Amino acid sequence: MAAVERVSADHPAFRTEAFIDGAFVPAASGRTFSAVNPATGHAIAEVSACDAEDVDRAVKAARRAFEDRRWAGQRPLERKRALLRFAELIRTHRDELALTETLNMGKPISDARAIDVRAAADCFAYYGECCDKVYGEVAPTTDDNLALVLREPLGIVGCVTPWNFPMIMAAWKVAPALAMGNSVVLKPAEESPLTALRLAELAAEAGIPDGVFNVVPGLGVEAGKALGLHMDVDAIAFTGSTEVGRYFLRYSAESNIKRVALELGGKTAFVVAHDVKDLGAVAEAVAGGIFFNQGEMCTAASRLLVDNRIRAELVERVAALAPRWMPGDPLDPDAPAGAVVSREHQGRILSAIQAGGESGARLVTGGTAVRTETGGAFVAPTVFDDVAPSSALAQNEIFGPVLSVIGFDGLDEAVELANGTIYGLGASVWSADLAAAHKVARRFKAGIVYVNCFDADDITTPFGGVKQSGFGRDKSLHALEKYSDLKTVWTRL
Ligand code: NAD
Repeated sequence: MAAVERVSADHPAFRTEAFIDGAFVPAASGRTFSAVNPATGHAIAEVSACDAEDVDRAVKAARRAFEDRRWAGQRPLERKRALLRFAELIRTHRDELALTETLNMGKPISDARAIDVRAAADCFAYYGECCDKVYGEVAPTTDDNLALVLREPLGIVGCVTPWNFPMIMAAWKVAPALAMGNSVVLKPAEESPLTALRLAELAAEAGIPDGVFNVVPGLGVEAGKALGLHMDVDAIAFTGSTEVGRYFLRYSAESNIKRVALELGGKTAFVVAHDVKDLGAVAEAVAGGIFFNQGEMCTAASRLLVDNRIRAELVERVAALAPRWMPGDPLDPDAPAGAVVSREHQGRILSAIQAGGESGARLVTGGTAVRTETGGAFVAPTVFDDVAPSSALAQNEIFGPVLSVIGFDGLDEAVELANGTIYGLGASVWSADLAAAHKVARRFKAGIVYVNCFDADDITTPFGGVKQSGFGRDKSLHALEKYSDLKTVWTRL
């Protein structure tokens, strides 16, 4: 990870108003909400609280832009150039964007720079490159027919995103949607709206036309709901909790049957067979898997399923690594972890920890708030052993640095335990027997499986879940399918 200088808390001038039709505008109601730095508990900006009226304004602007084809009708080469310029502008503003992300959601500045900004820029560049490389088809019909299969944009895409990787989650949706020629209305999480607003400004600077990329900050129950229910939004691309994902399916049913793609929660199983050769390396992967980004990861390795023959040793090794993941000042470039996103979220994590203790699980390390003197929301890396597979600790997504350890006897039991939640996002298996590991990989009900590794990632691979972790895939060329439709055009020759 690149070393960075300690960053001053003097923050850049944040953009705080909605970005609609190429301009920053206040919410029609004039209302605002506070963006809070979770590392201090202090408000850092007052952000426009958009509601149904603002969402309608943004959708109308997006519709105008779509219908006059100011974006979709451009030469694909020109759209590609604009998205590549946008990616480059993100890179140019790396320090400012990273600082904004860290101040707004608490993650370590080194991660914000090396991971969030880089991945967001790479994502726009990847999908920019797709603009002039995606073809339609000619169907193999009889000689007296010509049947074209055209791939067309959907129209208006509403993107609703969470706070754990605000820029990356926005990029995973906005970039393929724009590449296919759609207009976008992005509703960022209320906890972390600031980088989305700056991204929209940079997109305009890159030459993406007015009305094509709009951002409506606001509360989920106001702006998010209004977008979900809007009669002129053609599709919703949502990342967030399973609970809110259900709402978007209802909104669609109650409005215009807009299509909905859902990237939801997870409870990743990290399965370790008895024959692993390097238990130290496994322990490192487990600790990184659950404690990176304060455990605020949809794919966090929150359940360690380990063969009972090696369980005690592995638990001891993971617990020994926990201090290395102790949160620090997010602005300190050496901090391995930062603040969780809010005091409310800290409260939810601590409640889950308390309930875990009461359920009979054994607290091995952590379990408390730390750095309380800062006024910020920090949680110590926490490990529970002897977790009952049916307990809330093992079943519910905590979205914090809390590891639940469950023992098994044999890989059949491991697979049953791994598949024994409502979720199906990530899973991992570690074994010296690669054939056995791959057989387990096939039996996992999960969208992303890691064999003898964890959280490997690349923009070229599909990302998403099965079961109640949702459906549809972000990243890779497959994501383009979510933002386009097929049209068949027949000609009798
Ligand atoms: P959340 O579901 O609370 O909020 C997500 C978005 O939905 C926010 O923009 C929020 O404002 C909006 N929203 C909230 N209530 C709404 C409502 N009633 N109607 C319309 N919109 C509403 O999720 P979060 O707390 O921001 O993020 C954490 C969740 O995101 C976790 O469950 C995590 O697993 C999930 N996540 C999934 C992935 C993935 O790719 N599968 C990636 C990152 C995060």
